[in-house]
Amino acid sequence: MRNPKPKEWLAKDYSQSRIADYKPFNFVDGEGVRCSLYMSGCLFACKGCYNKIAQNFAYGFEYTTKLEDSIIEDLRHPYVQGLTLLGGEPFLNTQVAIPLAKRIRSEYGYTKDIWSWTGYTWQELMQESEDKLELLSLLDVVVDGRFELAKKDLTLQFRGSSNQRIIDVQASLKQKEVILWENQFS
Ligand code: SF4
Repeated sequence: MRNPKPKEWLAKDYSQSRIADYKPFNFVDGEGVRCSLYMSGCLFACKGCYNKIAQNFAYGFEYTTKLEDSIIEDLRHPYVQGLTLLGGEPFLNTQVAIPLAKRIRSEYGYTKDIWSWTGYTWQELMQESEDKLELLSLLDVVVDGRFELAKKDLTLQFRGSSNQRIIDVQASLKQKEVILWENQFS
């Protein structure tokens, strides 16, 4: 597992704007029915990574306007609660994630929520580059931290290891401390 210094890894140096997978209408990547975008590329190299193939920034297919349009249309269904960004590492693919999140806000306001998984901890993100902080400001929920094999726990809600937290982003930014998402049950 790798531990970057603040601003050591920047999306502009690594992202190839590629997507490992897109799964509309699933029930596993957060609360409710969701559309999930798996972004290619991650540098954390956690042992036991759940999606090792997506650590490669060149993996998968190019992110296109056509895909973005389909995501926006998939989200339009009233039964879809929101979008989930995962990977790979969404915060090293901010060129894709920020415009997409902004478009969701402009089309749907806050009637659709946006979740993201990240290998960065909240404390690390607070010291990170402007693009990462901008992406964070557009999110509702973030699940933070590397996957730690020694802390693996299959009973946890939406997390792989017990060091990871499900964080209410807007409340945490406002109060300048980590506030856990209120519907957390484990
Ligand atoms: S942060 Fe996530 S995607 Fe990246 S290596 Fe760790 S488990 Fe895999």
